[in-house]
Amino acid sequence: MANVQLQQVGKTYDGGVRAVETMDLSIADGEFLVLVGPSGCGKSTTLRMIAGLEEVTDGTISIDGRVVNDVHPSERDIAMVFQNYALYPHMTVAGNLSFGLERRRRHPSRLRGLFDAGYRSARREELRSIRERVEKAARMLGIEALLGRHPRELSGGQRQRVALGRALVRDPKAFLFDEPLSNLDAKLRVEMRTELRILHRQLGATMIYVTHDQEEAMTLGDRLVVMHDGIVQQVDTPDRVYREPANRFVASFVGTPTMNFFEGSVDSAARFQVAGLSLSLPAAHRSTPAGPCTIGVRPDALELVSDSENAIPCSIETIEFLGDRIDLILNSDVGRLVCRTAPRSGLAEGDAVLLRPTEAGVHLFEPGPDGARRSKS
Ligand code: ADP
Repeated sequence: MANVQLQQVGKTYDGGVRAVETMDLSIADGEFLVLVGPSGCGKSTTLRMIAGLEEVTDGTISIDGRVVNDVHPSERDIAMVFQNYALYPHMTVAGNLSFGLERRRRHPSRLRGLFDAGYRSARREELRSIRERVEKAARMLGIEALLGRHPRELSGGQRQRVALGRALVRDPKAFLFDEPLSNLDAKLRVEMRTELRILHRQLGATMIYVTHDQEEAMTLGDRLVVMHDGIVQQVDTPDRVYREPANRFVASFVGTPTMNFFEGSVDSAARFQVAGLSLSLPAAHRSTPAGPCTIGVRPDALELVSDSENAIPCSIETIEFLGDRIDLILNSDVGRLVCRTAPRSGLAEGDAVLLRPTEAGVHLFEPGPDGARRSKS
């Protein structure tokens, strides 16, 4: 297994598109790292540079301490799994799994130079080793019963497992995944996510995974790299990305429903003024400088209260029932808000309610759509 280092790596495509701004990244041996961000933010380009499928414009990429900028993809000992798994339709599952290994085996003509019996036993040994690897991968992925089938006889999930198996049999230094679950339906995607996590633990392999789906990123990654417009916004554990987003972009990208934002300003008495409301800031934020700023509150950090102290008057526009919880979509003078809460009786569309941010639930950002997080005192 391997560690992967990106030092001052950047990418400009031939037409002049700056897809990835200079970035530094150190991926530890055995780590599951997820590159996440909206479409076009440079995730795939970064992954493809690591794989060797795109040239690096600036900087160096090293695998286990060896600079690989000029090393051919096939020589990097890395396996890549794509969204379009492209299995060979005329081959069985077993054939698809062993194909890459067959191609890599020592060339028969070299072996033929040996005396016949030696050649035959070397070949036998090779075939046995390939069969063992295929069977082991099939066992790990639960597709042993499918080895004799053709891809057309498989479901989408089974095909994706075969594509994974093709990477597994190679026993590479690192696995790269480019949106591998995007073609699967929602339920299967969640199941495969769990299986990937278990597989990662069993193999202890370095895995680098690209997705635009923040929930997938949060559940899979040991660490996330959140990207936006080719620029790395934050590199952190899922927990820290969620609880301490580096800026308003990360705060709004991560978490469903998305965080509520109020654009206002802090006065000299450490109160937040917005749309005629005056809210006292939590103790931890009282020393924040006066002036324009943005408050962010996640939907589950807004509480329905009965007294107006520090509360935002709202009216319920719609109620979305989600089983163990409900989302209230509300209108207020500070804009539209979402509150996630436990189901309760006595709430109806059109009702006037009061919402108060919890003490711990208030995030402060510099003004503007990409405003940086203001640290607590
Ligand atoms: P993501 O994977 O986050 O969706 P990409 O890495 O595919 O983003 O793309 C990043 C940017 O680079 C986008 O603006 C995209 O249009 C551009 N881009 C991607 N591939 C090429 C290419 N082969 N030639 C020119 N521009 C490209």
